Amino acid sequence: MSEITQNISQFKASLSEKVTLVAVSKTKPNEDIEEAYAAGQRVFGENKIQEMTDKWEALPKDIQWHMIGHVQTNKVKYMAPYVSLIHSADRLKLFKEINKEAKKNDRIIDVLLQVKIAEEDSKFGMSPENAKEFLEHNTANNYPNVRVVGLMGMASFVDDETQISREFSQLEKIYNTFKDTYGFKVLSMGMSGDYPIALKHGSTMVRVGSAIFGARNYDN
Ligand SMILES: *Cc1c(COP(=O)(O)O)cnc(C)c1O
Repeated sequence: MSEITQNISQFKASLSEKVTLVAVSKTKPNEDIEEAYAAGQRVFGENKIQEMTDKWEALPKDIQWHMIGHVQTNKVKYMAPYVSLIHSADRLKLFKEINKEAKKNDRIIDVLLQVKIAEEDSKFGMSPENAKEFLEHNTANNYPNVRVVGLMGMASFVDDETQISREFSQLEKIYNTFKDTYGFKVLSMGMSGDYPIALKHGSTMVRVGSAIFGARNYDN
């Protein structure tokens, strides 16, 4: 059994049925994705639209492609026909653009509102204050072809588990506050290094790259 096959099987066996595993395949070749696919994996995450689109074209059509990286508005059109979930919706301008392109494709695109929970400097995501305001004012409902199905957050890249726990807990609280009104189903938290902590805070979707495919040659 290959290492990728083994890793996928292990994750499937250890994660609760309520948790979705997103296999983060960014920078990895199609052969690696095919191995994971053969092991039953169908949900893959990428952080660059061009790379994801190339892979979508080449690989089986029942793969669900998740965009997990920062999205430039002028590139939304390339993924609008097929993207299954955008984890990184973090500003109004982007909601507007996703709505426009979804409409053109006669689709409703599911997104997660990305919230900045890391105490360390991070560029992307809405601040928790703005996210709460955004949700309270129902701003997302101005975009009929965009459906906000939950929240996404990334903890700081630190060893301090108390800090990571505190950051995930902040997102868990916001999620629970708005869960019923919005019918939220997805709380996307946790990567290779911190997913066990995220699961303790109610994560329903983990984004795991290196623990499945091995270390990446270049990180982005
Ligand atoms: C790369 C990436 C991951 C996966 O990271 P690993 O540490 O390799 O598991 C998860 N989420 C986002 C947003 C990423 O960019």
